Amino acid sequence: MVTIEAAKAAVKAGSATELAEQHYGLIAAEDGANGKGINSFLALSRDRALAQAARVDSGELTGPLAGVPIGIKDVLTMIGVPATAGSKILQGYMPPYDATAVTKLEAAGAVLLGKINCDEFAMGSSNENSAYGPVKNPRALDRVPGGSSGGSAAAVAAGFAVATLGTDTGGSIRQPAAFCGVVGLLPTYGRVSRYGLIAFASSLDRVGPFTANVADAATMLSVLAGKDPLDATSADRPVDDYVGALAKPVAGLRVGVPEEYFGEGLDDDIRIAIEKVLDGLKAQGCILVKVSLPHTKYGIPAYYVLATAEASANLQRMDGVRFGPRSKDGNTLSSMYRKTREEGFGPEVKRRILLGTYALSAGYYDAYYRKAQQIRTLVTRDFLQAYEQCDVMIGPVTPTPPFKLGEKTDDPLQMYLADVYSVAASLAGICGMSVPCGTTRDGLPIGVQVMGPHFGEATMLRVGLAVEAMQA
Ligand code: GLN
Repeated sequence: MVTIEAAKAAVKAGSATELAEQHYGLIAAEDGANGKGINSFLALSRDRALAQAARVDSGELTGPLAGVPIGIKDVLTMIGVPATAGSKILQGYMPPYDATAVTKLEAAGAVLLGKINCDEFAMGSSNENSAYGPVKNPRALDRVPGGSSGGSAAAVAAGFAVATLGTDTGGSIRQPAAFCGVVGLLPTYGRVSRYGLIAFASSLDRVGPFTANVADAATMLSVLAGKDPLDATSADRPVDDYVGALAKPVAGLRVGVPEEYFGEGLDDDIRIAIEKVLDGLKAQGCILVKVSLPHTKYGIPAYYVLATAEASANLQRMDGVRFGPRSKDGNTLSSMYRKTREEGFGPEVKRRILLGTYALSAGYYDAYYRKAQQIRTLVTRDFLQAYEQCDVMIGPVTPTPPFKLGEKTDDPLQMYLADVYSVAASLAGICGMSVPCGTTRDGLPIGVQVMGPHFGEATMLRVGLAVEAMQA
């Protein structure tokens, strides 16, 4: 893995163009079937990247990410580069605009290498729902990289990109970061613009970075954060100095330990690793506080009702008229819609559209959708109450280490349960991050989840840095 600092030093010593070429060389050698078959990149934006690198090399473009090679999850749009969202239904779709996150990265000097594999419409926990094949975990090639931003985590872990963008609706940044041994940051809902993000569940979707270390996550977030007039849900509040915050010690901070995150089903090696983190924070002067998030167990059912309900509405626009390929078989408008969607969507996406449509339908709305909304309020209240007693919280990201490719593909419920520690923060809109904290006895990466209150990224990053420092 290469840090932003190392990448900038390489640009200085050589050039941004050389650095971009080096990364393309590594991708060519290792990402494809003739290499390790990691399969993280779906499209390379070579011309655009090299034009940007030339602007950096000429001195025309400076900035905190000048010349740094970065990859973009293929649910965010870039002009001139196909956007598939990991789905066949968008194959060949060329978006006419850039996502705001893309615009901001380029304004900061980043060289965008291309678009990265993910679960179809970001639905999944293993990247096995991509229409363009699964991604392998660079740390253990027979294992999944996590999902849905599996390719984004894998690309950083493999050194194909210095940083990447992912999205997280119910865990899709934190879980793959944990599985691949990289840092993944979920900003507070509204902190980073969603403009140009192909929507899965709009009230939950967030854009955030994957990086090699915590300092890089702070740098990326400071570039990405801020109000965007193109996204009405982006927050109009000042952006904190995330990089500056890292200099402050953590002594005196109150670290909440939610009892519900250490119960049955948590892998022993993960439990031990997290307990070590807690001991280390205590040794640095943090005050450990036991807290309770009593509605945690309702998080998964509520999330899978709300996320599928929103997805069923958002995906109505995928009908073969405006985006992507159209079925050749339909001979009426409605049969064309049906055939296009039947051919274009994969099985998990179809399952979710059916679930979500059911949860929203007359007669079931009160029992499912409204109930799930009420649970969302209770889950959020749990966090607000717990944050009266602590500044951040620590827990696991995932109940198990990365599982084998194919291990859970036949059992969607098992797959959904992998999100048990991540969905509550998603429902509540708070920020969270996964920081590497060692390995299992089999050498598989473990991540610890640091959660902060709404807009508490600066403090969360400080604690993340303290956790990282302990690993050395
Ligand atoms: N694994 C969860 C799901 O399948 C979360 C996905 C995400 O955060 N995009 O919905």
